[in-house]
Amino acid sequence: MSELRRAADALRHAGKIVVFTGAGISAESGIPTFRDELTGLWSMYDPQRLETANAFRENPALVWSFYLWRRRQAKEAKPNLAHLLVQSLESSRRQVSVITQNIDDLHERAGSTDIIHLHGSLNVPKCFACHRPAELAPEQFAVPAHGLEKEPPRCERCNGRLRPGVVWFKEDLPVGAWKGALTNARECDVLLSIGTSGVVTPAADIPVIAHSAGATVIHVNLEDVSLEGENEVMLVGKATEVLASLFEAAGI
Ligand SMILES: [Zn+2]
Repeated sequence: MSELRRAADALRHAGKIVVFTGAGISAESGIPTFRDELTGLWSMYDPQRLETANAFRENPALVWSFYLWRRRQAKEAKPNLAHLLVQSLESSRRQVSVITQNIDDLHERAGSTDIIHLHGSLNVPKCFACHRPAELAPEQFAVPAHGLEKEPPRCERCNGRLRPGVVWFKEDLPVGAWKGALTNARECDVLLSIGTSGVVTPAADIPVIAHSAGATVIHVNLEDVSLEGENEVMLVGKATEVLASLFEAAGI
C-alpha cells in the first residue's frame, strides 16, 4: 500500500486528530521562517540576537519594533490552502485540535477553533516585569514610519515594559499550553505533523509522545523527518500540495 493510501486510511478512521504545525505551513503564506535571513530594514540583524530576553533588556525599543514589523508581515499574509484544509477536518464526528509552534494567527483566520500556541503569539504582548498579558489598541501595534525604534508601551498594573508574548530562546514554554498539548498528543488517534523541523525542543517531542501513546503519526514536510516508527507515514512535499492529495484520497 502506498504511503498516501496508508495516511488516508488512518485519517479517515480517526476520531481524534491533532494537527501539529511549524514554520513550513506559514512559509507558504509568505512568512519567512526564523532561520531565514532578515530582509529590508532588518537585514543587518541576526534574528537570533533579537529573540532573547537579554536583547530586550539591552534595547527594548529595538526588539519591540522588530516584533511590530513581524506582526505586520503576519497580518499581511493570508491563510493558505493548507490552513483551510486543516480547518475543513473539523466535522461532527471528528475532534480536531491544532498545536502550533507558529506565532502568527493564520490558523485562527482560517477558522480553526481549538488552537494551542506553544511558542506564544504576536498578538498578545505581556509585561516584562509581572508577566500579565496585555491588550493593546490596534494603533499601538503600528510600525514606526521613520527609523526602526519605538518604545514599548507600559503595563497598566505595574508600569513595567510590555514585551512580545512569544517564547524566546532559552525560555520555557507556557505551562498551560504545554500541558494541554501533552494531553491532546496522548489522546489522539492520528497526529498530522506539518512543516515542523523537528529540532526545536521540547515542541519536537510532541509527535514522539503521540506515537508512543499509540497514535499514527503522519509527517508532511519538504524533507524526510520520520523517526522510522511502525505507525508512521512520511509524505514529502509542500504542505498545500500534499494535504490536497491526502484529503482527496481520504474522501474528506
Ligand atoms: Zn506588569
